[in-house]
Amino acid sequence: MKVGIVGSGFVGSATAYALVLQGVAREVVLVDLDRNLAQAHAEDLLHATPFAHPVWVRAGWYEDLEGARVVILAAGVAQRPGETRLQLLDRNAQVFAGVVPKVLEAAPEAVLLIATNPVDVMTQVAYRLSGLPPGRVVGSGTILDTARFRALLAEHLQVAPQSVHAYVVGEHGDSEVLLWSGAQVGGVALGAFAQARGCPLTPEDRLRIDEGVRRAAYRIIEGKGATYYGIGAGLARLTRAILNDEKGVYTVSVFTQEVEGVEEVALSLPRVLGAGGVEATVYPGLDPEERRALAQSAGILREAASALGF
Ligand code: ADP
Repeated sequence: MKVGIVGSGFVGSATAYALVLQGVAREVVLVDLDRNLAQAHAEDLLHATPFAHPVWVRAGWYEDLEGARVVILAAGVAQRPGETRLQLLDRNAQVFAGVVPKVLEAAPEAVLLIATNPVDVMTQVAYRLSGLPPGRVVGSGTILDTARFRALLAEHLQVAPQSVHAYVVGEHGDSEVLLWSGAQVGGVALGAFAQARGCPLTPEDRLRIDEGVRRAAYRIIEGKGATYYGIGAGLARLTRAILNDEKGVYTVSVFTQEVEGVEEVALSLPRVLGAGGVEATVYPGLDPEERRALAQSAGILREAASALGF
């Protein structure tokens, strides 16, 4: 099965590497305006395949995406000195205006996986540009934030993160919402489990975990300028869920008619991911504070999309 990646920078190439290591696709096509970069990554990645899985990695152009079941959009431009967030968004929207029609012309059946940041707004832009049903345009959203939340809770409780069911919803960014009220471990409410395990969650623990989740990207960017391994692995996991029609539940970003009174906004909620993209959204139980925070997060994203004209 073929997977396309448009934008072979840090995130695009790390995603291709994760696809190779996980053996997710049979063929990966890298497309980038900088054709030399795509070619170099393809060659380097191909040399990893004898140590991993038989994935044919090559550089190509849009016509080479023909037949791709999933196309990952990781193309974008870097912020210029003095440029506002909105100006940057506007330039990335222009990149997508060029990219999305070309991808769909070559691969009209593909699920689009959006990775370019700010991912929620870019998902909304891609959805509007594509004319596809909302579930076919899926942003990576808060998949990493959810993973970090589960990992930090697991560490505190001394259990495997696989046994922790806890989600981060809303914006992938500052206004994201950690859903503490519905979190469970092994089918037991989080607070009760923590008590029984002898490691209760104090308000200070909660603050520390919240900060650990919310500020992770800032810390990584401060240390090395960009984040890509985590998101690359996450995008490969989503690709596998689509190619295998797994119907797993992930907090991905999709254009949604209404969230807490805010209309027409792309953001993350727990959603069922299968061969056709997002098949269903599972609206989580929220306490009043989480409800207020999700409404605020949705409002921030709606405003950013409106400012761009999407
Ligand atoms: P990130 O860290 O988000 O991956 P990069 O700058 O490393 O950021 O990667 C973004 C990639 O997107 C660059 O390699 C750039 O050449 C590519 N790109 C930008 N605009 C386009 C476009 N219109 N079509 C294809 N690729 C593009």
